[in-house]
This record gives sequence, C-alpha cells and structure tokens, in this order.
Amino acid sequence: MIIIKTIFNMYFCMVIHILLLSHGFSSVLSSHIINTSTTVHVSTESKHDHKNLPHSALTPHFNPPPTATHVDPSTTFHHHSSDNSEAVKQPTTHHHHARNDQIQHTSSASPANTEVTTDAYNAETANGTHVANAISDAKVDTKDIGDAGDRKNCISHYINGLPERYMAKDIYTICNLWPDPHTDIRLPTDVIPERYHVDMFPHIYNESDFTFDCNTTILIYCNEDTDIIHLHSMEHGINFVEINILGEDVWTHKYEKDILEHTNNPGKGLEDADNLVKRSLTDDEQKEQTTPHEYTQAPHDEETDELKVENCGVSLNVEMLHIKLNKPLKKGARYKLTINSKSKISNGVMGFYASPYMEKETCKEKFVFTSLMEPTHARYVFPCFDEPDFKAVFTMTIKRLGHVTSVMNLPLRKTIGPDVDGFFIDVFDQPQDVKMSSYLVALGIAELEYIEAYYKDIRSRVWTRKDILNHTTYLLDTSVQFLEFFEDFFQIPYPLPKLDAITVPDMSFSGMEHWGLITYKESAVVYDPPSSEQIVWQTSLISHEIAHQWFGNLVSPYWWDDLWLNEGFATYMMYMATEAVMPDLDMKNRVAIDYRGIQNVLRTDQKTTSHPVYMPVYHPQEIQDIFDLISYAKGGAVIRMMNFFLGDYTFKHGLRRYLIRHSSDTATHNDLFAALSEQAVDDGLDVTDVKSVMDTWILEQNYPVVTIEITDSSVCFNQTAFLETEEGRMNRSHITWKIPVTCTSSEHTDFDQKPADIIWLNEKRECVEDSKWSSADWVVCNLKQIGFFRVNYANENWRHIIGQLKKDPLAFHTINRAQIINDAWELQRAGLLDIEIALQTFEYLDLETEFAPWWAAIRELNTLSDYLKLTPKYGLFQNFIKKKMKAMYFKSGSKSSIKEKLLHSLISKHACKYELEACVDDALDLYKEWIADDNIRLDPDMVETVFCTAARNLDDKRYNAPKKLLRNPGLLKDYRKSLACVDKPWQVIRVLENVLDIPELYELGSSLTSSATGRWLTWIYFMDFWKRDSHKASGMLEEVTEKMSTAWELNQLRQFMAVAEMTKGDTGAFEAAERVVSARVEYIETHRTAIYTWLQGITEVQD
Ligand SMILES: [Zn+2]
Repeated sequence: MIIIKTIFNMYFCMVIHILLLSHGFSSVLSSHIINTSTTVHVSTESKHDHKNLPHSALTPHFNPPPTATHVDPSTTFHHHSSDNSEAVKQPTTHHHHARNDQIQHTSSASPANTEVTTDAYNAETANGTHVANAISDAKVDTKDIGDAGDRKNCISHYINGLPERYMAKDIYTICNLWPDPHTDIRLPTDVIPERYHVDMFPHIYNESDFTFDCNTTILIYCNEDTDIIHLHSMEHGINFVEINILGEDVWTHKYEKDILEHTNNPGKGLEDADNLVKRSLTDDEQKEQTTPHEYTQAPHDEETDELKVENCGVSLNVEMLHIKLNKPLKKGARYKLTINSKSKISNGVMGFYASPYMEKETCKEKFVFTSLMEPTHARYVFPCFDEPDFKAVFTMTIKRLGHVTSVMNLPLRKTIGPDVDGFFIDVFDQPQDVKMSSYLVALGIAELEYIEAYYKDIRSRVWTRKDILNHTTYLLDTSVQFLEFFEDFFQIPYPLPKLDAITVPDMSFSGMEHWGLITYKESAVVYDPPSSEQIVWQTSLISHEIAHQWFGNLVSPYWWDDLWLNEGFATYMMYMATEAVMPDLDMKNRVAIDYRGIQNVLRTDQKTTSHPVYMPVYHPQEIQDIFDLISYAKGGAVIRMMNFFLGDYTFKHGLRRYLIRHSSDTATHNDLFAALSEQAVDDGLDVTDVKSVMDTWILEQNYPVVTIEITDSSVCFNQTAFLETEEGRMNRSHITWKIPVTCTSSEHTDFDQKPADIIWLNEKRECVEDSKWSSADWVVCNLKQIGFFRVNYANENWRHIIGQLKKDPLAFHTINRAQIINDAWELQRAGLLDIEIALQTFEYLDLETEFAPWWAAIRELNTLSDYLKLTPKYGLFQNFIKKKMKAMYFKSGSKSSIKEKLLHSLISKHACKYELEACVDDALDLYKEWIADDNIRLDPDMVETVFCTAARNLDDKRYNAPKKLLRNPGLLKDYRKSLACVDKPWQVIRVLENVLDIPELYELGSSLTSSATGRWLTWIYFMDFWKRDSHKASGMLEEVTEKMSTAWELNQLRQFMAVAEMTKGDTGAFEAAERVVSARVEYIETHRTAIYTWLQGITEVQD
C-alpha cells in the first residue's frame, strides 16, 4: 500500500547513484530498477491508482498529479474496482497482519513483569489453550451461553468463569454472538466519555524498537447501571486498568495534578518550567511507576467502597476491550477510567506510524512520526470510544527529546522540562472546552520547522521537514485564504485558536482534516515547481480539508453511513470555494470533468456494482470501503443539484441553521434536510420537503436518463434508470427519482436558469401542454449538467444540436458542450443512441476553445483510438484528430492564465501523441534547448509531453539526460516514465526486459501498450515470460490486455488460456480479462462499418 514510498525524498541521493552506474539511456532505467528493487516497497496503491483511472484511455494527465491525487479517494476501493478517489483512503492490510504480533498480554503467571511480553497474541496455541482451559475450568458450556443470546450476560458469565486474569482472544466468538456485526460492532451507550487525558511517551530514538507508552484517563458518565465497560482498543499491550468513582468537580480540581502525575511517569525530578508543581519522586515511587502494573493489582480507593476492575477481555472481531467490574457503575455518576498500555509504532500508514524520508544533506533515513485515525484507527493509538458520536474534550501530553518537535491538533499550552535524561513534556489542550470525535485527533513528532501566518487572531503554521520548507508557502497562503472564505461563507467563526498543517512523507490519503492540524501527504502539496494541473489539485485539496473544519469537525456524522455528509460537502465546497477565491482555475466548469467531477462519477454510478450515497456500514472494513468516488463525487454532485433547486440564499442559510443547531455534536442526513426544509418554508419556496426529493438520490444507487419528446402541442419527459446494460436497466426499472429538469431552446436561449424555471419530473412520465419548443431548431436539457442524470432526445434534435455546434458552439454553455459529448457516447455504448450521432459530436472540435469539452472529447477519442489502432483505417482516424487539434494547438500557444495553460497542456499532450508535426517539432526543440543550457528549466506543464515525445523520436544518445537530472532531480520520475513512450520494436523489447521483472514498474506497461507495436510485442513477450515466471507475469495481466480490441487478439488470448499452466486465481483473472476483451471486440465488430463509413465521409469533406 505504500507507494514507492521513499522515492520522492530519495531523488537526490538516487540520482547520484544513477550517475555512478549509468552510461546513457538504458542505464537510467536499469540502474533505477536496481535501486528501487532493493530499497522501495511495492505499492498496491500505485497499481490501483492507474488501474482505477476514470478510463484507461486517459493517460496520467487526468490523473491527479503523480501519486497525489490518488491518494485520497481511490485507494480505498477494494470492492469497487472501477473507482478511485481523494486524496484518498487506503485500507491498510498492514493492520491485519501486523496486529497479531503486536497484541501483547501480561499474565500474572509470568515472572517479573518489568517488561511487557510480546507473545503473539493470536498464536493459536497460547490463545487456544487459554480459552480451552478457561472454559473447562469454569465449566462454561459455550452453547448454552450462545443460546442465551444476551451479549452482556454472556460476556459477564464468561469473564467471571476465567481461572485467571488475562485477555481472551475473542469473547464474542465464544459467546456465539458472532457473527452479527450489524449490532455487536457498535458500542453500547450505558457509559459515555466526557473527557480524555492521554499521556504519550513515544520511543522513537531506536529504529529497532519503535514503541509508545500511553496512559489514557477517561472521564466517563454512567447512563445506565452496568458492571461492564466496552470501549475500542486494538494492538495495545495493556499494562493495567483501573477505575475510580469521581465527582465532576473532582476531575476539574485534580486536573493539573493529573497532568503532572501522568507525565512524571517515569519522571525523575522533572523541572517544571512553569513552576506549576515541584516535586521529586522517591526511589520507590520511581520504581513503582516504571514498572507496568499487572491489572490484577488494580488499586482501589476505600471511599469508593472497593469499586475495582475484576477482569478484562478483548474481542479482536469487534476491536473492543471489555472491562468487567466487581459491581455496577451507578446511573448518573461519573468515574475515572485509567488504562495504561504499550504498543508498537506502525510501519503502515494508519494509527500512530513512522513515515520515513531521506534527509538531503546527510542522505540518512529519518522519520516523521504521525497519526491517521479516520475512520477507525484512534483505537490503535489509545483505548477510546472510537465512534464519531462519542464526542469528548481532549487533553494530551507528549514526552520527547529536545531535538524533535511535537505538534498536535490541540494548541500547545506549555512545555515542561527537561528532566535529567533530557526529556521535555509538551502539554496540549483547548483554552475552551471543544468537544470532538476521536478520529479527529492528530499528532506529529519529528525534526520539524515551520512557517506561519495569521488570519485575524487565528495562528496558522505549516510544519514540515527542513528540506522542503521552502516549498510550502503556497500551502500556507492558500490555507489562510480559504479559512477566511469559509468563515465568511458560513458566518460561523472557526472555533480553535490555531489551524496548522503538517506534511507527511507518506499517508493513505492526500490530506486529512484533523481539527486544528491538517495532515497532507508531501507529494500532494510539495512541487518544485508545480504544473498547472498540480496547482489545481493542490488548491482543491486545501479547500476541501478546510471546508471539513465545519462539515465534519464542527458537525460530524452521527455514524459512518452518512460519510457523504462529510465528503460530499467538502467536495462540493471545494469547487465552490476555489471558484470564488481563485476564479482563474475555472472550477465552475471543471466540476463537469474533474477527477471528482460529475462525468467521472456518472460513469461509476451506471454500473450494477455501484452503491447508494447513504450506505449502511458496520465493520471497519466496510467503513473504509466507502471512502470512494460515490461518497465524494456523487455526494458532491447531488449537493450541487440541491443548491440549485433551493437557490443560493436558502441553501446557504439552511446550511448555517444546520451547522449552528448541531454544533459540537453529530447529525444525520435527515437533520440536514430538516434544516434546509425549514429554511425553504421561511423563504417561501415551492420545494418545502427537501427529504422527499433528496431521498430518491441518496438512498438508491444509480441514476436516471431523461428522454425528451417534443410534439407540436406538448413536451413529454420520461425517466428510466440508466445502467450500462439492458439487463441492468430492467433490474432497476422500478425506481422513480424526483428530477429537477431544466431546458432551453434555439428560440429563447438561456443557460442561466433559476429554481423557478425547473420542471419537476416526479413520475415515470410527465407531459406538459406547451408548444413553445415545437418550432425551435433544438432543445437542450439539464443545463450546466446541474442535475445528476443523463438526457436523450429524438435523433432529429440531436442532429440539430450537432448542427448548432458546427455553426456556433458558443451558443451552448461550456459544460453543456462537454455534456453533449459525454451523454452521447455513454448512451451510444448502452445501446440507446446511434453511433453516427455520437461520432458527429467530434466534428465541431476545431471550433472548441475550452478545456472541459476538449477533456470530454479526448476521453472518447482515446477510447476509439485504442479500438482502431490495429485496424486498416487507423490512419484516417489519426488524420482526423490531428486536423481537429491543429487550430487549437496554435491558438492555445499564447498562454498567460492558468486556465489557458491547462488547455495548452492538454492539447499539446494529445497533439504530440497523435503526432501532429508542429507539436512534435516544438517538443523536440524544447527538449534540445533544455539539455543544452543549464539555465533553462522545462515548463512544468510541458515536462511529460516533452519527455515522451523526445523518448519516441530521438535516439539513445540524444535522449540521455542524467546530467540534467542531477540538477533537476524532481524530474527523474517523469523521465523514467517517458522511457515507456517508445514505439520501435527493439526499444519496446528493451523496456519489457526490465519491466516484467520489476513489479514496481508494471505501471509503465500502460504507456508501453499505447502504441500498436508496443501492444502486440508486449503480448508476445508476456506469453513467453509466463513460462518463466507466471507469478510475476500475472501481476501484469491487466496492463497487457486492457487495450486488446481485435478478433485476432481475442483469439490469441483464448489460445493461450487453453494451453498455459495457471493457478485457479490466475484462471479467474484471465476469464475476467477475456470477458472484457470479448465485449470490446463485439462492440467494434458491430460498429465497424458505421465507423469506417463516417471516417471515409469526413475525410472526403476535409480533403
Ligand atoms: Zn475529505
């Protein structure tokens, strides 16, 4: 899961390595391979990244910038293979294998418990024996217990039956209560946390033993009498657990003392910088505190009538710690629960983990220690009530040596120390009590530096390692701008005194919105210098995370089934805020075609494998899985639609009403709809029941296509579920959406309509007596693609739309031009529109001057190009594309704004790919200038195009840049990638010889199969390689087959499957690939004649 994780930081050190090894072109590839294969982890994330691209036809340009984009959303999608999303979240399989050897237990039987033992907790033997003994000793009949069916009684019974005190592996299983994850996975509410005080002592100075001690004290309030406390805990070696009865005032009163007591452990005469308390521990006290307690000896207080912990158990299945008390806690009383634990620092990217980087000056590996707790990983750091609705007030201390800095999402109140060993204790807390969910806690410990700025009196700092400090000004400046924007938009002050950011070498999202300390993956925010695409990505990311400070942090979802309230809103706000703050990025149009935009997720949501926006989830893995394009992009898209039908005023004030009402609390989507409905009533809107409309969009998966029929006297609207296949559509035909339809016509053209103009389609079919459109040339509906649906028309109307595009495309809104192309092709592939019409949507492109329609068109052109590449008419198709791009290539050359740069970058990349002569010449000139003059830096927007074109067109000697790369190490990755742009047989073979042996480089396969030569040579080479090492070869199956589209390629594939030796898993993968290729071949066979006829016709017209 870790993307080639240290690579970014290793550039400098690596380039030296390459220079030493290399004597030209090929050694850049091979020497790099040597390096990566020995030092870099294989990343499933990077593979997911490119496999999950919106469509394989689009090459990395559309990908969020390297590694960055994908960070967030995408990698999560183990179960939604077509998706890839945000700055994304990544299931960390790490935990699954890591946890078993991290669970530790202390047994009263083991001698001298000065050090927690590291018994593999899951060890079948140890655990099995314990459980078996426990059951037989206590004569507990597990079946009886299971039949009793009462969780509480069973657990209580079971724990009481234990012959000795130790943690059982899985009480739930023993009690036959598993599997029922839907109910048992949630914590009961008989006790709730009000405050946490966590003392953390990370042992980070010896890499062979990265661990941390945690002393967690929780003030709990008892809702219902109970003698068992359940809370979350994973991968902790628990040293001791104790409980004390406590009045509310006692906690407050003891607060200062508590800090000292806990942070003193194992203190040796701390010097208190603020003179808070001065006290030296006696030798006995020191010994006492450095020796982990056995929880058999949980101390108790006479006054509390001997309330004490009787025993504890963990349930790995539900990730809980169960604490059995000798007598019930009393309803209405408060208690202090203390849990002392020791854990390993994770080498994954979740929980509390170590993220390595290479220090530039010394070429030494160092670490940023940081945390990522969303959605269910706070429990890996400290025992807690790890559900968003258990909000509490947090204070925390971190003990560290002087050469590192510790930061938290909470403000630093003071630093105590150093003690005689040189340790400092940083005390973090809130000046006012701010309640927050456990997943929003964050910390970072490393050799950090910062830059800072203020918005009003809110201090904003960017913390980072020294090497990249200079590259974080954009992050700082932009953060402050968005903080100002959102405060102004919501009219609700940011409630904390500070909003910091910290950059982390590697994390599983691009960014994470921890309240007060946003963590960013370095590769998502640090570029030198950024390309225009990277500026767009970085800016959107920052606005997304800052929007979360209100949507998610101030008001959190009651449970993860409403994750879209977090991610959908942050995604929608990201477009809206960026458009407002930086209009030059053109986010108002980009929303149609962006990675998290409308068209991308329409494509995801038209599959049978999609899921509803509101998604019942229970188990942590299920929760992890919905951090996907549906929650982010469809969530954002339906909110955009809601904003439209409510109007800006009602939307904004309704949101404000919702945020204020549920401030410092949690809410469900029904709470949101209620607040918006009240606002709508107050504002006198026609729509007064937001829920009845929105439920149809969030509770059902997929979306509708609306077909428009116009007669002389009426217009009729029909809706039906849109899925890719007839069968899929039939299965979903019972669903009716409430659809806000907007239309305009050649008679009265108005793409800027208001809520009052909406025609509501609430039934399957509705007709309006209206003749106003019967005389119009064309009608276009779903203006600005504001509704989350597709539109289809009669062929005649489609032809008039195309006629208008060729006459004057600017008559249509930019987004609608992109929509017309996108809808036409998706409808065509679903069998709902003739291919002639879809093809004709390309014909006007020489007049197109905007990014979004070009993006939509190029996506389809690339797909068609792959289909036609190994057919006799490919030359005609290539000429057609070159002719259409030529005018725009020259026009977009004069670029001053980011918007223009984005367009030029897009057009150049593809004009060069389709070998437009002027583009190829220009790219080669840029390359030669760059290589010849040390003072010239390549335009970051052109790097990929220049490198790829040079690799394809220059010989080895001329495409040899190691010396330049030493001066520009940031370009190494692009340079390496470009080596797969070649198309001469011997060059292709050379890359293959390297690539197939190195899984890290499989991603190059996609570039390699872009050329016709590369495509068939890769297949031939692959078949041979399979015989040598089928295990390695199987990892590349998807890349090798993803563009196959001719009957003879399909036959080759089938013949190979018939004779090759393969495992069951391989067979399944091949069969899946065969189905995809087969469908593609059938498609192209069906439409071959029509495509050829169109190509012939258009060529004659052009010539
Ligand atoms: Zn987010």
